[in-house]
Amino acid sequence: HAKLDGRNTYRFFTPEMRAQSLRALQLENALRRALERNELQLHYQPQVRIRTGRVHSVEALLRWNHPKLGAISPAEFIPVAEDTGQILQIGEWVLRSAVQQLRDWRAAGLTDLKVAVNLSAIQFHQPQLPDLISQILDASCVPPEALELELTEGVAVDDPRAATATMDQLRARGVRLSIDDFGTGYSSLSQLKRFQIYKLKIDQSFVQDLDHDGNDRAIVSAIIRMAQALGMQTTAEGVETEAQLQFLRDMGCDEAQGYYFSRPLPPDELLQFLQSRQVPLPSTAG
Ligand code: C2E
Ligand code: MG
Ligand code: MG
Ligand code: MG
Repeated sequence: HAKLDGRNTYRFFTPEMRAQSLRALQLENALRRALERNELQLHYQPQVRIRTGRVHSVEALLRWNHPKLGAISPAEFIPVAEDTGQILQIGEWVLRSAVQQLRDWRAAGLTDLKVAVNLSAIQFHQPQLPDLISQILDASCVPPEALELELTEGVAVDDPRAATATMDQLRARGVRLSIDDFGTGYSSLSQLKRFQIYKLKIDQSFVQDLDHDGNDRAIVSAIIRMAQALGMQTTAEGVETEAQLQFLRDMGCDEAQGYYFSRPLPPDELLQFLQSRQVPLPSTAG
């Protein structure tokens, strides 16, 4: 098996590349059974309002515990699932599970809680997606504003016109759109405005070194100011320290998410976390 590289010469698989593709094949086969064997789970990470310390939404993050292979990171298996198309079935399961979980929490008294779900570009490009989402929301009686869909900047690269149309449809159903890992992709500022994005999630690579990297501080404060000017919310990802939080607060960032507050937690632990901080969620605070 050989691949063409940019200079029109053939490069053959190195042992390392071969090991990677074997692992991918192994994961692909294991993934096929993962859903039916209940090996997939969602954990939830709080997104904390910096001004008030309250949690208005939580992000659903996939966890896969394989009986033999152990815990496998979504950063490893999502790309495999995308290559094989399995992401469609998995992604639908994620949407259903997260919305059901949200319905249960809201019924248990967390009446205004919202959930954020990561969407792969492949899911985003399915023409049935808006209908699927409406159907899932209707079946659970969860209002559409309680669902945030996290997209990456990449969804708009190939066909900005089609992406705009899909985003318009999704917004028309009432769901909120966020851009995940913002700052690492190629979205143009004019596209951002057209997409009417609700929230920018500032990529953790900019947050990580805020304490000692002046460039990162400049980038983060510029993102926050731009978002404010365009009427978008900001959430900083990967917040681990008080100093990072302090800087984000000073810059007027709306929300922080990261180990400083909590790791992604299984549903019962998340409920405990929320109840220990805020019982019940206020119905009006913004
Ligand atoms: P993401 O959506 O940007 O999620 C944030 C990642 O940062 C998560 O990794 C989270 O556990 C991690 N994180 C949170 N706080 C901190 C922190 O303070 N420090 C550090 N170092 N990391 C932190 P995770 O759960 O391993 O997920 C990785 C990526 O996999 C996600 O990045 C997302 O792109 C993808 N993913 C996860 N679940 C799903 C899903 O249900 N569907 C799709 N399509 N992708 C998913
Ligand atoms: Mg995300
Ligand atoms: Mg992210
Ligand atoms: Mg990511």
